Amino acid sequence: MNMLQQSRNQVLVQIETACIQAGREADAVQLLAVSKTQPSSVLADMYQAGQRAFGENYLQEALEKITALKELDIEWHFIGHVQRNKTKHLAENFAWVHGVDRLIIAERLSNQRGDDQPALNICIQVNIDGQDTKDGCQPAEVADLVAQISQLPNVRLRGLMVIPAPNNPQSFGDAKVLFDAVKVQHAHPEDWDTLSMGMSADMTEAIAAGSTMVRVGTALFGARPKKDV
Ligand SMILES: *Cc1c(COP(=O)(O)O)cnc(C)c1O
Repeated sequence: MNMLQQSRNQVLVQIETACIQAGREADAVQLLAVSKTQPSSVLADMYQAGQRAFGENYLQEALEKITALKELDIEWHFIGHVQRNKTKHLAENFAWVHGVDRLIIAERLSNQRGDDQPALNICIQVNIDGQDTKDGCQPAEVADLVAQISQLPNVRLRGLMVIPAPNNPQSFGDAKVLFDAVKVQHAHPEDWDTLSMGMSADMTEAIAAGSTMVRVGTALFGARPKKDV
């Protein structure tokens, strides 16, 4: 077994263990491999190890990998900050966009999604713990965004994405409460199935609180070069 297979198996065991400890189904949580800064060859190796869903943060870097790996059956997720003038590339090249935090972004993604493509899966990014950042809408804005976005034809609104500050596990619980509250008012509640939260350092806590998708980079690929966030 090579290193990437080994680290992937370890992460899968950690996820499964966290699920069971939390009294959830062993397969309740999906693993998104966060491959920012990793070269295409490493993604190809991780694909060989069985991984299909990959998350990228930087559009230009991602587009190069999508082109290089187009023969592989990869599900591409964009997990970075969404800039308004980049939505066309996202709509055309990704299966998922996690960082939608304004109606205009969702509208552009819906308009720019190709008619020959399946609906683009999106999550609303919420600034769940009031961090001093411009990423993510406020929790109080979520209900209106859901009502509006769920009317758009070419996007499928799947859930919420949060990146809480470290060492405050209460934020995961807050995200779960919000996630459950929205489900009952969603126009297509069967689509509302994704709570994207938890990274290498806190996936166990996120799963205990109800995450359905963890975004894991370092624990799979090793440490990234320092300049990256
Ligand atoms: C980089 C990144 C991750 C992965 O972080 P690790 O600590 O390496 O697991 C997850 N989510 C987002 C939004 C990221 O930018």
